[in-house]
Amino acid sequence: MNTVRTITELRAAIDPSRRVGLVPTMGAFHAGHLSLLRAARAECDVVVVSLFVNPTQFGANEDLARYPRDEERDARLAEEEGVDFVFMPAVEEMYPAGFGTWVDVDDTGGEGAARPEHFRGVATVCLKLFNIVRPQLAYFGQKDVQQVSVLRRMIRDLDLDLELRVLPTVREEDGLALSSRNAYLSPDERERALALPQALEAGRSAHVRGSDPVAATRSALNGLEADYVELLDLGGVTVLAAAARVGSTRLIDNVILEIPCQASAWLGRTEQEN
Ligand code: AMP
Repeated sequence: MNTVRTITELRAAIDPSRRVGLVPTMGAFHAGHLSLLRAARAECDVVVVSLFVNPTQFGANEDLARYPRDEERDARLAEEEGVDFVFMPAVEEMYPAGFGTWVDVDDTGGEGAARPEHFRGVATVCLKLFNIVRPQLAYFGQKDVQQVSVLRRMIRDLDLDLELRVLPTVREEDGLALSSRNAYLSPDERERALALPQALEAGRSAHVRGSDPVAATRSALNGLEADYVELLDLGGVTVLAAAARVGSTRLIDNVILEIPCQASAWLGRTEQEN
């Protein structure tokens, strides 16, 4: 496995005639990240994982400074998963002096409304990574389902030539979605955080019964402060999404309520995989 820190070096090392898969991440790997690496390894000739805590997707009062970082451990785990290249650029490599071009994808609701400029940072860094790596396939988690929606729109609107794969959310045994931010939780907060996936499950059950999933989710949050609970229509896939604060930590999660057959391509999955 090669660790690469510059764009020039990475471009020179990748053979674009091979099937190249990219897994964009901010590092601090957990089993969710590893599931994406495994999926990429299974269907690509060359697997590149980028590890970049992208400052432009953090708001002014968010957790950029304390975001967990452990390059050595991440590199070791990537190597164990058979990754070919770990791309770890410095901030100045991605945003040199004079940088001033942004990708602004129209998006409403959910994370887009709660974190202004977040998706502008995500879309911009992903377009840069797509241009640097030139992957045929890029892998993302359902955990950040709106991110996928933003990137799909960017790919369509800007005529990019790559496919996305969306892998299911990996959870702890008790249901909490794995997240690098779970590391911020105290033992007591970790207990309370469980109300988020449980509330979304309550919302899903309500939907199945024909009652309001948003109201059911809100009333099952067990005292957690919700940033939003919303139904989203993402390419025909109906998603129940929520963000909640547990102490000073902000967690997001979602469940899929409906995937019509014709929408399964939106997740980059075959119908059998749903
Ligand atoms: P991050 O490092 O948090 O930016 O995440 C990198 C990628 O991993 C994104 O595509 C996330 O959606 C995905 N991811 C994060 N958490 C999970 C999880 N629990 N299960 C599956 N994928 C995840």
